[in-house]
Amino acid sequence: MERGGGIEMNFKYNGIILFKNDIGETDRLYGIYTLEAGKIRARAIGVKKPNAKLAGNLEPLTYSEIFMARGRGKGNITGVIALNNFSGIKSGIEATQKVFYTFGIFGRLVTEEEKDEKIFSLLLEYLEAMDRICVSSSQKSQEGRLDIVTLGFLFKFLGALGYKIEADKCVKCGTKLQPDGNYFSAESGGVVCVKCGSGSGKKVKIIADSIKLIRLFLKNKVGNFGKIEAEKSIINNLKVIISEEIGWITG
Ligand SMILES: [Zn+2]
Repeated sequence: MERGGGIEMNFKYNGIILFKNDIGETDRLYGIYTLEAGKIRARAIGVKKPNAKLAGNLEPLTYSEIFMARGRGKGNITGVIALNNFSGIKSGIEATQKVFYTFGIFGRLVTEEEKDEKIFSLLLEYLEAMDRICVSSSQKSQEGRLDIVTLGFLFKFLGALGYKIEADKCVKCGTKLQPDGNYFSAESGGVVCVKCGSGSGKKVKIIADSIKLIRLFLKNKVGNFGKIEAEKSIINNLKVIISEEIGWITG
């Protein structure tokens, strides 16, 4: 495979396909989160041709073993073996939408070509947990659980990036939190007590059960989040909090 000359080396990656973009008539560019090198971009030449073998195993939301020839710049994908298609997730619109929403945040926050095995395992565990919910329960009972797993993943992912949310004590004064009257402040990095929250600064209300759930997320594995049940009001409160936090991080 001679493209632009120079030396090429062959690599094997374990990667989760995040997105694809068309390049011209027959090629595609893929965004992949790999165990070996973090987030990378790679080309697949001729992948859009009708009988191209690579395409299926390179669909976004697939965990694959990817073979690549790399010289200078982006690599060219030469072979793919699917390890997990997450067909459960792909069979449901709700689950698929939630995962791509998560991929959007994930892709924006991870640094290109920065290996992080902990974040890789977290992402894989998240997809496996989402897939299990889709396979094992009726569509009607899925939504809340898909939301909880997604929220739990996001809290842990932000923690792994260095944005751990303080939910054990007031992030400002360090005192033990009373159940009611607390706020969440993205700027301060966690929950603030009634007293500290009465001043100025952007903050949102956080209910007692949301605080409990955040603590549960931070202490447990994503794989177990599918068993958690929570009322809609808690889920909605946590959605506001996570979007505040992400908004603050991304500016
Ligand atoms: Zn305080």
